[in-house]
Formats: sequence, structure tokens, C-alpha cells
Amino acid sequence: MNVHQPNDLSAFWMPFTANRQFKSAPRMFVSAEGMHYRTQDGREVLDGTAGLWCCNAGHKRPKIVEAVQSQVAELDYAPAFQMGHPKAFELANRLIQMAPEHMGHVFYTNSGSESVETALKIALAYHRARGEGQRTRLIGRERGYHGVNFGGISVGGIVNNRRTFGTLPGVDHLPHTHLKENGFSRGQPEHGAHLADELERICALHGPETIAAVIVEPMAGSTGVLLPPKGYLERLREITSKHGILLIFDEVITGFGRLGASFAAEYFGVKPDLMVTAKGLTNGVIPMGAVFTTPEIHDAFMHGPEHLIELFHGYTYSGNPIAAAAGLATLETYREEGLFERAAELAPYWEDMLHGLRDLPHVIDIRNMGLIGAIELEPIEGAPTQRAFQAFLRAFDEGLLIRTTGDIIAMSPPLIIEKSHIDRIGEVLRGVL
Ligand code: PLP
Repeated sequence: MNVHQPNDLSAFWMPFTANRQFKSAPRMFVSAEGMHYRTQDGREVLDGTAGLWCCNAGHKRPKIVEAVQSQVAELDYAPAFQMGHPKAFELANRLIQMAPEHMGHVFYTNSGSESVETALKIALAYHRARGEGQRTRLIGRERGYHGVNFGGISVGGIVNNRRTFGTLPGVDHLPHTHLKENGFSRGQPEHGAHLADELERICALHGPETIAAVIVEPMAGSTGVLLPPKGYLERLREITSKHGILLIFDEVITGFGRLGASFAAEYFGVKPDLMVTAKGLTNGVIPMGAVFTTPEIHDAFMHGPEHLIELFHGYTYSGNPIAAAAGLATLETYREEGLFERAAELAPYWEDMLHGLRDLPHVIDIRNMGLIGAIELEPIEGAPTQRAFQAFLRAFDEGLLIRTTGDIIAMSPPLIIEKSHIDRIGEVLRGVL
């Protein structure tokens, strides 16, 4: 018999974590409210990352707590296939109301990774439904992050994934948009729209009629806050439209107010065919994702005998009642408190705080957009990621939660943040760096 005690740390193999380091000096949260977490040893930690870019309305929000509590007592689960429950439909309507006008339908998932797979599968199935089944190729981008499943890591552009797990066949990649000459840009960088023209080269190489979709994060978050240069997304839209290729925006981070608009598609004024979302949809409280599609895509499936399933895809927990209730309460909280507008209003103050750290040692770039920020540090020779990880540990000791990816510090605070919290983040970072 295994002799693990309940408080043993070894049984839980933690995700995306340096397990041995963590277990030698655990960092445990036991509660959270508003802008703060509380640790097991009773310290308050300012949430500089909205959990994992997901708690956009902050923590322990009364409407969401109440909605989840009462939903679980009323209808805990309803089968997702061939059955329904009203809240999943209500939430879909609310989501479409807040989405860019050309969106018409949502398909539920349980995570960003599942939303990515769902969008890629819808793209392939859409072309097949229209008699263009030869469109099987998927185009992603270097340094793209689209979750952890095989489709997502294939279109993603992260060397660790490709080295360790390999990729699906029939995938190609655009170059990333992170250019040195854009260093220390405030907001959207000037240079690099021409990088979208690489899609023409890829089309010429493979034949545009073999390409189903291009997927990009409108702003790449997880690989270090890489911003789209001015004109870049517009150019991608032009080229994809010209060749009948679907454009998928992965808005798992940028969706639900992060940039100071409902979605990046709205912020940039570019219309993707599919939008991939999760995280902020339920404020991170219950796992849920949603893929948004245009009526054209949805309607292409609605042919044939009515008793047949049109899209052979779905999850046991698609549109789960508790997640749907959490989603409704989350959207209500965003709306009532005007949190997306608040993010837009605070963005310049946030930008000033970040760029005020430019003079600190080892800072080689600072990037920002909406309520997202990144500080790129010069790696320690022979020990990449070490400098940023040390900064993360020290910031945590100082009562601030940040995130690091490589040697980049990334931040994305809840949209309820006050100016005094922004000042505090600046102060702690100044001390730590
Ligand atoms: N896509 C993007 C752009 C993300 O940032 C993430 C997570 O950070 C994902 C997909 C994967 O989401 P999840 O971890 O919910 O599967």
C-alpha cells in the first residue's frame, strides 16, 4: 500500500512547474479576494497576473460565487450531446452580443487547448463540407502558443514542444513578429507589417488551395508578449481572404477585456473567421472555452438529413451548467463594473509604470498593450531563464505574483486594479531588479 500522507507533495505531478524546486520550498495559496491572494503562511500577495491571465474580474467576486453555488444545487450536470439546458443557450447569446458583429455562433469547450483543437477541426470540416476537402494544411507562427494538445503544439512555434513531442504533418509557420528595431515600443510597434507577406511565400510553396487556415494569437502572450506590428494583422486578413483561407485568432488571452476591448479582433478592427477563447470567459473560476464562428462557417454544416449530427465533435463537459452559470455571472460582472473600459482607461498609467523601469540593470526590452506588460531581461550567460526565475521568486517574497517565460517577466493584472496597485507593482519590480 502507498504510504502517502494527505499533505505529502510528491503524488501530485505539477503542470508546467519545476516540481523539485517547488516541493523544496512550496508556494501555496489558500484563499483569494479582489486583487490579492493569501498564502498558507498568512501573507498577502498582489496578483500581477490575474491567476494565469484568466481572473480578469479579480477574485471571489460575489455574483460569480453565488451563481456557481446556486447552480450546483439546482442542475449539476446535463448531458452535452442531444440534450440541452437553458443557461448554455443564454450564455451563447450573451457571448454573441458582445462579440464582433460578424460572429454568429459559439461552440463550447473546457479550455484554451480544446478551443484550439476545435477551431482547427471546424476549419478542416468546413472546407470539406463545401467540397474543398483538399484544404488540409494548417499555418501557425513561430513563437505561437496554442495550448498543449497535438494540433495546438503543431501550429504553435515553441521549440521545446517540437523537440519533445513532434508535430502533425501538413503544418507550416509564419515568422514571429518580434523585431529588435521595435525595442521599447510603447504599445503597438511600427515595424514589421511586411512579415505577413511571408504568407504569400507559403501559399506559393504549397499551393494556396491546399491551405485550410492560418492561426495566430493577435498578441502572442505566453511566449513573452510579442505584439503585432501596425498593419500586420490587416495584411494577414487580406492575404487569407484573397486565397479562401480561414483566419483564426487565438484570443485565449486577449479575449474578455485584456486589451481594453471585448476582443483583440475589435481592438485591432480585423475580422477573423474563427475566434478561440477560454480563461476570462468564466473568470478562471470553472474551466470553460468557446470557439466563435461566423454564420457562413456554421451554415455550411447545416445541410443533409436533419437527424444527422452536423459536426462530429464535442466534449462531455461542453456547456456544462456550472460553467455556463459562472460565464453568465462573469459577463455580468464585466458589464456592470465597466471593466473593459476601465482597462482601456488605465492602460496609459500602466504603460508609464512599465517604461519607467527601463533604466534598471539587465532590462533589454519593455513591451505593453492594454493591461499586459513584459519586461525582457538579459539572460545570464550559460543559464537562460535563471535571471527571470530568480526575479519571480524574489517578487513572490515581496508579496507580488508575476509570471516568467524564458527571461521575460509577463504581467496581466485583474482589470479591477487600482493605480495604487500599479504603483506597488512598479515599486516591487524596481527593488527586485
Ligand atoms: N492559446 C493561448 C493563446 C494561450 O495563451 C493558452 C494558455 O495560456 C492556451 C491557448 C491554452 O489554454 P489552456 O491552458 O486553457 O488549455
